[in-house]
Parts: sequence; C-alpha cells; structure tokens
Amino acid sequence: MSPETLLQTSPPVASPLQFASEDFDRYVMSTYARFPLALAKGEGCRVWDTEGREYLDFVAGIATCTLGHAHPVLVEAVTQQIQALHHVSNLYYTPQQGALAQWLVEHSCADRAFFCNSGAEANEGAIKLARKYAHTVLGIRAPMIITAHASFHGRTLATITATGQPKYQKNFDPLMPGFYYVPYNDITALEEAIALLDNDERQVAAIMLEALQGEGGVRPGDRAYFQRIREICNEKGILLILDEVQVGMGRTGHYWGYENLGIEPDIFTSAKGLGGGIPIGAMLCKSFCDVFQPGDHASTFGGNPFACAVGLAVCQTLEQENLLANVQARGEQLRTGLQAIADRYPSFIAEVRGWGLINGLVLNSDVELTSSNLVQAMIDRGVLLVPAGPKVVRFVPPLIVSAEEVDQVLQALEQTMAAL
Ligand SMILES: *Cc1c(COP(=O)(O)O)cnc(C)c1O
Repeated sequence: MSPETLLQTSPPVASPLQFASEDFDRYVMSTYARFPLALAKGEGCRVWDTEGREYLDFVAGIATCTLGHAHPVLVEAVTQQIQALHHVSNLYYTPQQGALAQWLVEHSCADRAFFCNSGAEANEGAIKLARKYAHTVLGIRAPMIITAHASFHGRTLATITATGQPKYQKNFDPLMPGFYYVPYNDITALEEAIALLDNDERQVAAIMLEALQGEGGVRPGDRAYFQRIREICNEKGILLILDEVQVGMGRTGHYWGYENLGIEPDIFTSAKGLGGGIPIGAMLCKSFCDVFQPGDHASTFGGNPFACAVGLAVCQTLEQENLLANVQARGEQLRTGLQAIADRYPSFIAEVRGWGLINGLVLNSDVELTSSNLVQAMIDRGVLLVPAGPKVVRFVPPLIVSAEEVDQVLQALEQTMAAL
C-alpha cells in the first residue's frame, strides 16, 4: 500500500480513555519534560490528540515508527503473531527469531544477531562482547572503549558512561570504568587517545561511535575520518562498534548508517526503527561473536516471536515497498526546502544538515530562540518535531512520508519563521 492511499483511510476516533494531565503527573515519575499534548490515535504520518486535533508527525516516536502509524502490514503482523504465539523465552527455538536474524545478516555486514528490547540494552551487549573478546582473544587485562563527545548510547549505567555528555552522567557516579572520550570527527584526537591508552595498565579494545550523531545534534560522520578509523582498527586489532540505534533501518536512505561512510563495523546495534514502534533491539556482529558462549549473555523478552515477527514485517516492507528510494527522495526534498528557509532567515538559522530522513535545523547560537521554543511553535501549527539538544530541531518522519506531507511541514515552518 502506498503512503498516499494510507492517508485517505478511516477518520480518527478519540481514545476511549480520558485521563487528566494533573492526575498523570501525580502517578507517573517526572523524568520527562513533556509537551502539553495528549495523543490518542495515529494513521500514516498523522496523529490526533485527545481533543481530535490533527498533527503531522515528523517525530515518529523519535525515529522509531518506520512505517508510520497503523500501517496495515504492522497491524497484520501484530494480530497474527499474538494469536499464534507471543512469548516462550530463549529456552526454545522460535522460527521468527531465526528469520529476522537471517534478514538482518543478509542485509548487512554482520554474521549473527543477538536480540534484546532497546537501544541501551543492545549497546550493553556490544560493550560486554567487546570486553570478553579483549580479555579472551586479545589478552588485554584492562580494556578501554573510546567514545565521542556529544554521543548518545542510552540511559543504563554503562551506556550513560559511554555517552560523552556530562549532563546525562551528573549525580549518577560512580560511573563504569573503562571509557575514554574524544571529540567527534577529529582523527588527530583519536590517534592521540589510542597512543595515550596503550600502556601496561590498559589498552584500547574498541572504538564506539554513531555514523551520524542523532541525539547530540544531527551531526553526520565525516567519511575520511571513519575510513581512517577503519584502517587504524585493522592495523591495531581494535574493534569498531557502530551504534546504529537511530540511523539504522533505512533512516539515512541506506539500510545502515555506515553505508554512507563506505566502511563496515565489527559490531553494530539496532533498536528504534527495527520494530516500527514495537520494542526490540539487536546487536549484530561478525563471526568472532562466537566468543559469546551459552550463559554469557541473555534477555528474558529478547527476540520473542511477537517482536521478531513485527521486526521481520518492518524489514520486508522496507524492501518490498522500496522505501529506501522514498527516504532518499523525500530527504532531498526536505533538505532543499529547509535550506531555502534557512537562506531566508539567516539571523535565526545557522545550518541544515543530515542524511536521508534524519535532518537537523541548527539555530544560531546568538539568538534567544531555542529548539524547544521552535518545536512548541510548530505544535501550534499542527506539526510534531523533536529537539536534538538546545539549538537543533530534528526532523525524523516515518519512512513512508509523502511529498505533500513534506511540503506541508515546510509551509508550516515558513509561516512559523515569518511570525517570529
Ligand atoms: C535512542 C538511542 C539509544 C537508546 O535507545 P533506547 O531504546 O532508548 O535504550 C542509543 N543510541 C542511540 C544512537 C540512540 O539514538
């Protein structure tokens, strides 16, 4: 089914569940600064709030709802699998897990997959695998993992430690030992760090990076930087781990972010877009992952037939509906439109950057306008966007987005900028 036909299907219904926001805050922990909006229904690239107001969803659950909302393929996969068998644990084989692993391996540089439930958990698995490889194969006693400033790898203790942003680590110390940070896209700093860490006490086991830094401000990786890293890793036997949680699964117009850089990682992780909004994560690796033996790593929910059937449906739809071509075309259209607006409002907008359907509008540091202000102003015009730091607004629509929907968002942004 094409995205155009999706838009014309059934009208929205309000959620039957009414719940006041004051009550919500009384019962739910205050870990999120939510926008004042309660959503009740979605279809294609649109969502409706509990009052019935319509929004174009260019957040997609933070780069997660690959096929948008209520996609017939997703509805079908969920319904069928919940009726057949939804969860049995990893004490047994299930065909859905094998089939999803096969699809991922055949469409990437990896040899095998491990399934879990989120991005942070996938990265935890990658860190554990790299450490076990370092201890048992490389003979490193104190393995170090180098990560980048402004990176984002999740909210567990190991992954906030891997995340090179002090704001996520503050007051949660003691952090995990074994991490070292370098500026992103700076090859000299990286080479200096590897030299510094190469001594009797500790050695670099892995370098863990995002192909494009999502949360940290939609910052694309530099091709020459990553190609040199690949060479260094090959020379020194260091593992290259890429966190593909946000940019993988077609988001950049290729299945994987690393394809934009012309390199292959040794380990990579996926989550957000993989289940199209149903929770699933994966850690993928070349065959040296066989250092992981039965008992080394596990997850009760990980790879259950429900999540894997949905993940497989998302993967097959990406392929069958040729969505990578749509991502490339709509991404180009969006970036061109954003750049035209940036050119008309140079006092507010510094830069437009991104790949495929992950794009950032970078606000000038010397104006008061913040990304949250702009996101709120766009909500008022019926468009959902998400900040990527205080000065970058992120556009990450479902990969089925149509040309008309991109145009509508560009128009709303033009009107918002004109009104500032
Ligand atoms: C969102 C994100 C994570 C964390 O994923 P969760 O599913 O929230 O644990 C990790 N890495 C990157 C690059 C992300 O964008």
